[in-house]
Amino acid sequence: MTTHQYDVAVVGAGTSGCYAAATLADAGRSVVVIERKDAEEAGHIACGDALKGASDFPDAIPKSQLESAFTNTGVDHGRFEIPQEDTVLEIPVPGELAVIDRWEYGRCLIGGANDAGAQFHYDTVVKDVKQADDGTVTGLSAIRKGDPAEYEADIVIDAAGALSLLQDKVTFEDSTFDTNVRYSQFCSAYREIVEVDEPVEWDDALVFKPTERSAGYLWYFPRTDTEINAGLGFQMNEEPMELVDDLKADLRQREEFADAEVTDKLGAALPTRRPYDSAVAPGYMAVGDAAGHVNPTTGGGIAGAAYAGQYAAEQALEAIEDGRTDDESALWEYNVNVMDHFGARYAALDVYNIFTTAYDVDDLMALLAAIPGEKLAEALYGGSTSVGLGLKIRAAIKTFGHWGTIRDLYQTKKAADRLLAHYESYPSDRDGFEAWQRERDSIMDGIYEITGADAKY
Ligand SMILES: Cc1cc2nc3c(=O)[nH]c(=O)nc-3n(C[C@H](O)[C@H](O)[C@H](O)COP(=O)(O)OP(=O)(O)OC[C@H]3O[C@@H](n4cnc5c(N)ncnc54)[C@H](O)[C@@H]3O)c2cc1C
Repeated sequence: MTTHQYDVAVVGAGTSGCYAAATLADAGRSVVVIERKDAEEAGHIACGDALKGASDFPDAIPKSQLESAFTNTGVDHGRFEIPQEDTVLEIPVPGELAVIDRWEYGRCLIGGANDAGAQFHYDTVVKDVKQADDGTVTGLSAIRKGDPAEYEADIVIDAAGALSLLQDKVTFEDSTFDTNVRYSQFCSAYREIVEVDEPVEWDDALVFKPTERSAGYLWYFPRTDTEINAGLGFQMNEEPMELVDDLKADLRQREEFADAEVTDKLGAALPTRRPYDSAVAPGYMAVGDAAGHVNPTTGGGIAGAAYAGQYAAEQALEAIEDGRTDDESALWEYNVNVMDHFGARYAALDVYNIFTTAYDVDDLMALLAAIPGEKLAEALYGGSTSVGLGLKIRAAIKTFGHWGTIRDLYQTKKAADRLLAHYESYPSDRDGFEAWQRERDSIMDGIYEITGADAKY
């Protein structure tokens, strides 16, 4: 048995793990990234390949090191196909957006962390987490290329993605770490890379289309004008969809894919929920998908993962410096930074997700078709929007027959705004946490009452 010692052990060579590792290595700390895939396959991740916020990356691995993976930077809007209403909505996407070659992007990330001085152990599957008698996480047990290996570290960073195995292994008894995590808060998704001979007309758009259920959508994202990422997903509180067959059925209906060739297939789960209330425990931090850092309405998680990785590493550095890695309070600032940057917004957006699970898809699509595009864009990315009276009246006239849903949506929006304000006052230290959580739960109770949706948490 080999025992490895590092300041920090990061599990997972995805976006969050690479940003965390690069930040730590840049600061001169010894850091290992443990990845179950081999060196060739690492970085090959199931994804829609749409990179929102492509202009803005944390410093540890700058944009210039990733740009070779940006295959389409000409996308400036979303195209919402609504067959139920025989409508296509063109909606501007705020900020910079790129569609990427995801595997190449994954390799660039690993290259960035490697250049900074992080070590990578591939072919290494983490099987268990080691804890001291007082509950502090002290390391990991793994199988490396078939042989057992042990890791000892001051901090373990869990960057192992959605439904991380590590969290099943840690006893979180006396910590604030969020354990209110269930399958029904995740989305199951699948995508194919499809190549066509003739360029598609919509190579400047992200194409979305609702599935027959409210809590799912199909997407067509153009990596280039002849290479398309086509995929779909559904919220796991619904009856399972036949992802492969349903995608095939939609592809068959679209003439642009008549002679298409499928070159790659991958599926995975992703969290479509609010961010973890707390993602720290003594000696342990979770980042990216492992902590629910995904926009729950779009499924976009790359940007959140990058920033969470950097914030966690910065806090880990401080705690190591102070000799306080076994103290949850010393890691708390990481939670605060996540909530402040994007966590509050994502929590508010989850309210709309909850709303959609309680309504009929045709009703929702009629509503969608009646709301002005720029307002939808604000709601989709900002977590809130303001709709002037004139627009409200016009939308109401267009959606005659759906007024009950509009009234509920309006009430839901007010509740989402209340929730956003509450998340904006996330406690600056561990002491205020339980009171903050109680108040948040009471706002959520109100949301379930307004929407009639089943409780998600
Ligand atoms: C189908 C699909 C489409 C998506 N589309 C988009 C999109 O278009 N845009 C967007 O921004 N986001 C999208 N996302 C979400 C995005 O991919 C994730 O949010 C992002 O990859 C999260 O990064 P991460 O580093 O947290 O985790 P991951 O990228 O999942 O990395 C986790 C790593 O941990 C490794 N690992 C797991 N368990 C172990 C273990 N026990 N031992 C060792 N290693 C382990 C895995 O092999 C993996 O390499 C999509 C997700 C899915 C599933």
